[in-house]
Order: sequence, then structure tokens, then C-alpha cells
Amino acid sequence: MRDLDAALAAWRALLGDERVQCDPDTRRAASTATYATTEQVAAVLRLTSTAEVSEALRIATERNVPVYPVSRGCNWGLGSRVPTVDGAVLLDLSAMRTITDFDDALGCVTVEPGVTFAQMHTFLAERGARWFGAVTGSSPHASLVGNALERGDGAGPYGDRWNHVCALEAVLATGEVVRTGFARFDGAKAAQSHRWGVGPSLDGLFSQSNLAVVTRMTVWLSPLPKSIQAMRFRLRDGRRLAPLVDALRTLRLDGTLRATASLWNARRAWSVEARAHDREGWARFVRETDGCAWFGLTGLYAPTALMGRALREHAVATLGPLVDSWHVEERSGDPVAGRELLWEHEPAFGFLQGVPHARSLQSAYWSKPADFTVEGDADPDRDRCGVVWCCAAVPLRGDDVARACELAAQVLHAHGFDPMLAVATPTERCASLLPTILYDREVPDADARAVTCHDALTAALAREGWLPYRVAAHRMASIPEANDATRALLARLRAAVDPSGVLAPGRYER
Ligand SMILES: Cc1cc2nc3c(=O)[nH]c(=O)nc-3n(C[C@H](O)[C@H](O)[C@H](O)COP(=O)(O)OP(=O)(O)OC[C@H]3O[C@@H](n4cnc5c(N)ncnc54)[C@H](O)[C@@H]3O)c2cc1C
Repeated sequence: MRDLDAALAAWRALLGDERVQCDPDTRRAASTATYATTEQVAAVLRLTSTAEVSEALRIATERNVPVYPVSRGCNWGLGSRVPTVDGAVLLDLSAMRTITDFDDALGCVTVEPGVTFAQMHTFLAERGARWFGAVTGSSPHASLVGNALERGDGAGPYGDRWNHVCALEAVLATGEVVRTGFARFDGAKAAQSHRWGVGPSLDGLFSQSNLAVVTRMTVWLSPLPKSIQAMRFRLRDGRRLAPLVDALRTLRLDGTLRATASLWNARRAWSVEARAHDREGWARFVRETDGCAWFGLTGLYAPTALMGRALREHAVATLGPLVDSWHVEERSGDPVAGRELLWEHEPAFGFLQGVPHARSLQSAYWSKPADFTVEGDADPDRDRCGVVWCCAAVPLRGDDVARACELAAQVLHAHGFDPMLAVATPTERCASLLPTILYDREVPDADARAVTCHDALTAALAREGWLPYRVAAHRMASIPEANDATRALLARLRAAVDPSGVLAPGRYER
């Protein structure tokens, strides 16, 4: 039987009163997402070590109290910090902020869950390191671990983040600690450079999962290139999207594009610059961009300027005839300092080389009134921004991507939302389709319309075979039923490692 009082008493004995927080303000803040949720957090535990996580989980299991882990809790548009069940206790890991290891030869950092993108960048810059980590369009204060566990997307050659991590330390609900790959062997030299180790590989079980709390992870870094080129391109006629996507696939597969290419439709591109109500600004944007429907950005990474020029020649020859305009800007120089490779006129240089920024996060405020001002760091939960992502996996075939975009735009439009679309190519064969529902949570009924639209959009895409690869925490029911025994297997595994079923019940699996 659930015994919250006994669990709270045990957690207080473990952590002290200050780190077991039950005050209404803390609970309210932790129970707020960027879309409507009903689940209320019972308490927040501020944990600082693997040993504390282990003991806190053991207590949760013993007292049958549901718990929900977050690393930095910036999962905006996908559930923020709000647990999947009512009355859960939030395990806040943001104070576990140590970069426990850095291998300057192999380009690996090992981090705890609270390590942020900004912290990683500062850490590498201070050492004049030759490496950079893939950053996202979200906050510089989001976490490497939370983003990787969610299988998020970043910029640069290692944008498919989950493919570039290893050596997880994971704590089960019983309090047991497991390490993946070679990290489970004392003294294993390849623990941080070999993903699989020997025997069954467990890593996958711990991403998008409720089988463990991850307390450590090794993240692989990309070398800073001697030549970096930001390649931008535009398409006026949306009907020409399919051949452009096919060309991007060719360039991804032949190695010219080692990094994600991102495509944004005009409304999505503009949402980073402005607010929805600024009609004059929109007219100006359309005029200045010549009415373009799609905007693309990618990076060309090369170890020498000469190789960079060869890549550019091939990329321009392939993409040039398929777009209405393109522009390539290059920086080359000493990759140790990295500084001369950065912005000047082209803000993308930073982003493409692991310098996090909060600029794209402004789009969360898109539907806010023109006079709404953001106090301090952007916080879409606090500011009642409405954001819901749909994240669909679409094969990197022009026809698929174009049809999926068209369908997504239709559904968004039918539900009264601006058709905000982005497509990213984190891998060579599959695109991430990212329609975004942006609204103001203060507008009556908008919350209800947004989740209805999310579910309708996910269902419409799934009917065509474009399934979600990442799901908002409170919309798990939108994952279609599978036709095999995976769910039964996962249920058996979960019963074995979490006998009381206390860890993030309902997150991805029951
Ligand atoms: C405008 C905007 C732009 C965005 N751009 C991007 C983008 O480019 N790429 C991208 O991927 N995302 C993007 N996001 C979504 C989101 O903000 C990021 O993915 C962000 O990194 C997630 O927050 P976090 O890292 O703090 O993870 P958290 O919120 O801490 O974690 C996310 C989830 O993972 C699980 N989890 C977290 N930590 C642990 C742990 N230690 N053990 C077990 N499970 C855990 C929990 O279920 C948690 O809810 C964007 C959002 C907005 C609003």
C-alpha cells in the first residue's frame, strides 16, 4: 500500500528537510507543463549523488510511492517536469552537475544528469579543447543526459545524440546500480570508446524508458573542424520540396553532409524572430525573403580548407539547381581556439560548433501578446507558453517527406493552429518531422484544442505509417498498438526490476 508519509520521513532522514520540498510553490511549478496536464507532484527531492538516488529509489519501492526523474526538466513541448501519474514525487537530478571525466585524445566527456549544454561548452572552451558537443534549439540550460535519454536531435555530425553515447550508469527501482557496455568491468580501458561491451547491450533499455534512473553517461564529441561552412538555402515553391529532400539524402549518404540538415517552413522560421500578432513584421518577412516557403541550413565540416572547398563544390552542384537561392559562408582557422571559426556575421557558426544559445527558444513565446516580456531566462512553463511537439519518423525519401509535411499542415490548419513545420536529417536514411503546436495557454479553450490537435495529428501521420519516435509524456496513448510481444516482454522486465512499479509509471511503457 502506498505510504507517502513514511516515504517522506525516510527521505528527510536521508537528505535533510531542505532537500525534500513539499511547499505549494515548488509543487505547483513542478506540476506545470506547456500544455494541459492534471497530474500534481506530491514533493520534490533534490538528489546529489548516485548513492542518494539508489537509496531514494529503494525507499520509493518499499513505500510504494511513484517517482519521476528529471535531469534538468526542460522537456518543453513534451511534458516538462510533470510526472505521468498523479501524486508522484519528482526526483530532481539537476544538482548532479559534475563532468566526471574528459578524454582529450578520444573526445569523450562523462557527465552526471545535471550537466547542461552551456556547462559542457564552457568546460571545453576553458581547456582550449579541439572538441565540441552537439547542441539543440532548446535551452543552453537543458541537460545532455535528459536530451540523450529522450533520443533528442542536435546540430552537427553527432546530432543523432543517442548514437553517440555509451557507458551508462543506471539505478534500478530496487536501488541496484548497473553499468552498460564495458563500464561494468573494473579497469576496462575501452569503457568510454566502445558502445556495446561484451554480451547483450543494455543501453537501449534505458532510453525512453521507465526501467532505471540514469546517473552517468559518456558522450562523444566531434572534432572542431579547420573549415566550417554554413550553407543556407531557400525554396519558393513548396511543391519542389521532394527533389530537395532526395538530394539531401544523396549528400548525407555519400558523406558530403556529415551533419543534420534542417528545413523550416516560413511560419516556423519566422516564429524564432517575432510574435504571431505582428502582421506588419510578417508582411516584411515575406517581402524580404521573396515569399519563400522553405528555409534550409546545414554545415559542411572539413579538416582542411581545401577539403572544405571540394565539399562545397559538390553540395552546391547537387543542391543548387533544386533551390531558389543558396549561400555558403566559410570560416577556416585554428581549431584549437575555435574562436575565429565562430560567428561574426553568420550566427549559425556558433550553433553548428556546439555553442548553445537560447534564440530558438523564443518561438515558445510566439503566441504571447506583443507586449509580453520574458523576465530573466526563458521559462515556457512559468510563462504559460503553449507548446506541443509531434515528432514523427519519416523515411528520407522526398515523396514521403513532402506528403507528411502536407498532411501535418492540413491537420494543424484544420484545428486552427499555424502550420509550423520543421524537418531534420539527423541520420542518412530517416528524417525527423517536427510539426509544432504553438499557442498561448492564457487563451480560453486553447489548451483543449492543442491536445486534440496533437492526437489527431499523431493519428493521421501514424495511419500513413509515419510513427512517432518521441512522445509527449502525457500523450502516451497516441502511440499505436504494436503487433508483437514487445509490450509483454517489457512488462516482464519491468516487473523484475521494479516490483512495485514505482518508477515513472506510464512513461513510454506501462
Ligand atoms: C523552442 C524549443 C526548441 C527545442 N529544440 C529541441 C532540439 O533542437 N532538439 C531536441 O532534442 N529537443 C528540443 N526541444 C525539446 C526539449 O526542450 C529538449 O529536448 C531538452 O533537452 C529536454 O530537457 P532536459 O534536457 O532538461 O531533459 P529532462 O526534462 O530532464 O528529461 C526529459 C525526460 O527524460 C526522462 N529522464 C530525464 N532524466 C532522466 C534520468 N536521469 N534517468 C531516467 N530518465 C530520465 C524523463 O522522462 C524526462 O521527462 C525544444 C523545445 C523547445 C520549446
